Amino acid sequence: MIGSEVLDVAIIGAGFAGIGTAIRLRNSGIDNFAILERGTAVGGTWRDNTYPGAACDIPSRLYSYSFAPNPNWSHTYSGSGEILDYIHTMVREFDIESRIRFEHNVIDIAWDEAAGYWSVRIDGRDDVRARAVVMASGPLANASLPNIRGIETYEGHKIHSARWDHDYDFAGKKVAVVGTGASAVQIVPELVKIADTVKVFQRTPGWTLPRVNRKTKDGTKRRFTRYPQSQTLARSMWFWGHESVALGVVWKTPLTRVVELVGRAHLRRQVRDPWLRRQLTPRFRAGCKRLLMTSEYYPALQKPNCTLVTWPIATLAPKGIRTVEGVEHQFDAIVFATGFDVSNTGTPIPITGRDNRVLADEWSAGAKAYKSIAVSGYPNMFFTFGPNSGPGHSSALVYMEAQIEYIVDAVSSIIDGDLQSLEVRQDVQDAYNAELQRKLDKTTWNSGCSSWYLTEDGFNATMFPGFATQYVNQLRRVEREDYTAVPRVLELPNEPARAVAHS
Ligand code: NAP
Repeated sequence: MIGSEVLDVAIIGAGFAGIGTAIRLRNSGIDNFAILERGTAVGGTWRDNTYPGAACDIPSRLYSYSFAPNPNWSHTYSGSGEILDYIHTMVREFDIESRIRFEHNVIDIAWDEAAGYWSVRIDGRDDVRARAVVMASGPLANASLPNIRGIETYEGHKIHSARWDHDYDFAGKKVAVVGTGASAVQIVPELVKIADTVKVFQRTPGWTLPRVNRKTKDGTKRRFTRYPQSQTLARSMWFWGHESVALGVVWKTPLTRVVELVGRAHLRRQVRDPWLRRQLTPRFRAGCKRLLMTSEYYPALQKPNCTLVTWPIATLAPKGIRTVEGVEHQFDAIVFATGFDVSNTGTPIPITGRDNRVLADEWSAGAKAYKSIAVSGYPNMFFTFGPNSGPGHSSALVYMEAQIEYIVDAVSSIIDGDLQSLEVRQDVQDAYNAELQRKLDKTTWNSGCSSWYLTEDGFNATMFPGFATQYVNQLRRVEREDYTAVPRVLELPNEPARAVAHS
């Protein structure tokens, strides 16, 4: 049913990006917004990923917003609980809670060209109309069980890493972990402490680098509280440290070999058995898949109750996993650390733009946007973590903050300039993407491995081929010549009359 409410901005999702957007919109004087969240709590990926050992492999000083510094991070790298607390603290301190509508599952978004607003359909509730929409639903929101033959026949307990079952007691159980990506390398060291046995099913060994996690001293916390500039300086040092790593991780350069040397040395130091070492040695360029930052994973694999299985999985059976050489491994529980249903093709929610264009159709071969944020044909809509916005070497929050500032600039142009629509030009978007794909050819991500960064056809719709500095700089301001701006001619229903601007 069409509701009567007209928002200036509808934000889809109450994760890091949605909350950050709300804070910065409010700081810039835009207050008529709502966050539509399908869940019952804030936090997005950090609400959902509560598996044992869940943590961020980027230092907290950098994995946080510069406009909401936290002097009290307990360690260099924080666990998921502490990151979730940080999000809750932002919601409280910036007074965002009243703007969040929980259990509002957005099922369809369509542009009403004549009226100049987006119609946002919500499951079982009245529609909301909004002059602008910010898609902050996140690329890793949908946990998916892998498409393994026989998965439905398995009779034991199935757990996905992003939907952890905290009621299940692993003590004394025979457990399988399928997958050896960023989530698995955090889960395995914790599981081996409690389960009877753990078998880890590896399809592709990844590049693994050491991670030194230090407790933050009380004196340091006090200093950061008293002298906020010292924390800004620390953040800046982490930023530039990660920028220098880009030279070896983002592009295939001689420094990529250096990263690989560090990975090999880490493997040699932690794994004495040459056969196990061989099984764990990656066969693709470092950086192509996400680097695994852990000093705990290799030691955990060598615990007496842990086994690495490298035979490919043939099928799941009622009692466990059958590998291709014909062995059946029986388990009480299988943990799937197999990643997410990533929408680098299609869209998470059906979106119909100008002239009934359907974004999922346009993105069927791989998503494309302008500067990862705006899409031609879809005016007044802005994406956080849209196409080609992923960092391979730095903090997602640095990228997210830049996106938010750009989006707030664009939304301010719409509201303050009383625009009906602000739409990126198709030719500008095409030129941007042609250049982007040309640059991606030289990156490690496109160097021949398979990962969630690429579509099945090998199109990279995920990563930004450059330094974080370049990504951030391109988003410093909305260049009006990149966009077509149409002044508003109609008043929106049920709103106080406003002066209509004419250009
Ligand atoms: P992922 O990186 O996609 O890894 C999935 C793992 O499951 C891979 O080892 C994959 O093997 C394996 N796999 C998938 N399907 C399989 C199948 N049918 N049979 C056997 N193995 C299968 O997923 P993730 O570890 O959940 O991480 C996803 C993303 O979340 C990361 O890239 C990162 O961006 C984010 N994350 C971040 C952190 C952090 O600390 N910041 C922590 C966790 C996750 P192949 O490699 O052979 O495909």
